[in-house]
Formats: sequence, C-alpha cells, structure tokens
Amino acid sequence: MTVTDTVRVSVACSFCLKSTTEVATMVAGPGVFICDSCVAVCVEIIENKPAAPPELVSWERDLSDEALLELLPKVAAAGAQVERQLTGYVRKARAGGITWNRIGAALGMTRQSAWERFSGEE
Ligand SMILES: [Zn+2]
Repeated sequence: MTVTDTVRVSVACSFCLKSTTEVATMVAGPGVFICDSCVAVCVEIIENKPAAPPELVSWERDLSDEALLELLPKVAAAGAQVERQLTGYVRKARAGGITWNRIGAALGMTRQSAWERFSGEE
C-alpha cells in the first residue's frame, strides 16, 4: 500500500466529516481535508457575501441547542483527525532526521514536550 492509498482510505473531510468513499473528490491541505461538496458550499458563500472587510464566514449560524450538540462530536472528530495528521507529519520529520529540538521550536514547544506528545514512547 502506498502513502496515497493510505490517505485515500483513512481520511475524512475536515468540514463535513464524510469519508473519501462518500465523496467524489477529496482535496488535502496541511493536515486537513475538504470534499468537493464543501468546496461548492464555500464557493457559494464567497460569491454571495456582502462587500465588507474580510471576515470569518461560517455556513453554520444560529444553531439550536440540539444542532449544536450534534455538532460537538463532529468537531471532536475533526480535531482528532488533525492531531493524527500532525503526528504523521512530525514522524515524517523525524524519519528525515530532523531533531526533536527543531520540531519543538517549530511548534512553539520544548524538545521534551514535542517528544512526549509525538514520539509514541513512554
Ligand atoms: Zn465535506
């Protein structure tokens, strides 16, 4: 199995959490993913936004309590996916010989904190 195959079968859209098997196209970013349906929603939002200073535009507004509660596990799953991706990138950096010191500095943490969080060792 190649790296591409692994990515194809194991990731979910960071916006809607649909898996690669549920979407036509999945685009990978740095640790995040977006599907073709979510890109279409984003394009619609961008095309219809009022002329105003740049701001964060979300497609979820005025959520009911139930809708907000339904959203919580999705946000948690997206966060867990980002953490797995980050760990993968760090391990790739280590495999390439980059020191824990430099990885920690890049993440704004100590060498020890980086090692404890990403090494998988006790
Ligand atoms: Zn999506």
